[in-house]
Amino acid sequence: MRWKGGRSGGGTEDRRGLGAGAVAGGGGIVGIIAVLAYVFLGVDPNTTQSVAGLFIGQGAQERGTIGTPADDAGRFVDVVGANVNDVWAQAMRGYTPPKVVLYDTGTGTGCGYGQAAMGPFYCPTDQTVYLDLSFWQTMSEQLGASDADFAKAYVIAHEFGHHVQTLSGASQKVQRAQQSLGKEEGNRYSVALELQADCYAGVWAANAAKVSGGNVAMEPGDLEAGLTTAKAIGDDTLQKRQGGRVTPENFTHGSSVERMRWLKSGYTSGDPTTCDGPFQDL
Ligand SMILES: [Zn+2]
Repeated sequence: MRWKGGRSGGGTEDRRGLGAGAVAGGGGIVGIIAVLAYVFLGVDPNTTQSVAGLFIGQGAQERGTIGTPADDAGRFVDVVGANVNDVWAQAMRGYTPPKVVLYDTGTGTGCGYGQAAMGPFYCPTDQTVYLDLSFWQTMSEQLGASDADFAKAYVIAHEFGHHVQTLSGASQKVQRAQQSLGKEEGNRYSVALELQADCYAGVWAANAAKVSGGNVAMEPGDLEAGLTTAKAIGDDTLQKRQGGRVTPENFTHGSSVERMRWLKSGYTSGDPTTCDGPFQDL
């Protein structure tokens, strides 16, 4: 993936090295690690009931440095985020960018105390994407995802997709629907939301080069890297990797086949309206 010539966003908040912050309420870390594999990619505390309890207490509200990080890994997030914003500014009327926070170990968020073990997540309350960059290593070394830059960009674009869902009202609609649904039915709505975010990531990929004059662009092999990653983080694959039985009623993000399908679908169409598909099947 080409990205180094892309425009910097300049609004990334870097909390790395600030320490874990204080956990009000404490404890629960072991439990968090146990459910880790189920919440990778797109914890949405509002719509994933089983995940809401993972945010323990509020944590200290730390303040990092805002700008474009100087290191490559941090700058990558800043540049890719800016590009994702440029795509959505064209694709969605009234689009406003989310905030992006880099942290390690744990940090206070508008949704409670967030921890690296949760994987990347979006908090709708403060409209912020939280990323612990050590997740990239976990993703490629422990989950069998690709280590290509595009695989990371897919994850970032997926989280921005949850921001789009908050702006469009889709997240709130799902949250309201879930209040009157049982767990299994409610999970199907969570899955639809996740697949739509995957589709939105595909829409970003399709338009990345166009909005950046080719400075942020996919290269041969990138789509495959994205699909390998989508496959690795499908619920059935994660459940198998954990040595467990595959239980579709517990899916919250979608199967490997579904995640690949919707990432590809967004990429092929380049049009966000095609990403309502997962909700039409409900
Ligand atoms: Zn997600």
